[in-house]
Amino acid sequence: MDLNNKANEKVNVECRECKRSTKHLILASADLSDSEVIGHDYEIYWSSSYQIVQCMGCETISFRRCSESSEDNPIQIGPNEWEENINEDLYPNPNEGREPLSDSNILPPKIERIYEETITSLNSRQPVLCGIGIRALIETISKEKNASSRDLFGKINDLVSMGVLTQEGADILHKLRTLGNAAAHEVKPHSEQQLGLAMDVVEHLLNGVYILPYHAKRTFD
Ligand SMILES: [Zn+2]
Repeated sequence: MDLNNKANEKVNVECRECKRSTKHLILASADLSDSEVIGHDYEIYWSSSYQIVQCMGCETISFRRCSESSEDNPIQIGPNEWEENINEDLYPNPNEGREPLSDSNILPPKIERIYEETITSLNSRQPVLCGIGIRALIETISKEKNASSRDLFGKINDLVSMGVLTQEGADILHKLRTLGNAAAHEVKPHSEQQLGLAMDVVEHLLNGVYILPYHAKRTFD
């Protein structure tokens, strides 16, 4: 075990007080790693880092655990771009008690129901169901906006072309797109922080596609 190897390093972490990702200082760390050879030449490895981290803005202290292993599938973030899959957990959970949008009753009933169930799954720490819910919301919105692409990767890009989704938002959802796949077929949960960020993007999408047009129509008609 390596003690305090990462102390004084800075990392981007979701702060539960600042309600966004901020620079955190690692106050203390304990790192573990190991590997094992299976059969003749197949080696698997894993590593875990346990850290006490402090927000450099508001000074809130959290506990962070990051783990990775050679058995994790990389995440596709572009047509030919992949990113290593690092699982991160934070305590206390910065997404605890997340409230749904106050105007969610304006959403079409089918979307409102999926949306509220997805928020509930995020709040009750059910990351597999939450990942599937986020994917279902994006699929439904794409269908409603007549996105022409067949797969979700293309549909997300269609939403950017239509001007209802920013490129930054799409980049986050692309990371989740493969997670949604994995959630449905391989039952692989994802970190609450990434799901929380994807939920932010989906809420912007719901605001732009349904809620703001509804208010605009009522205000200017
Ligand atoms: Zn903070």
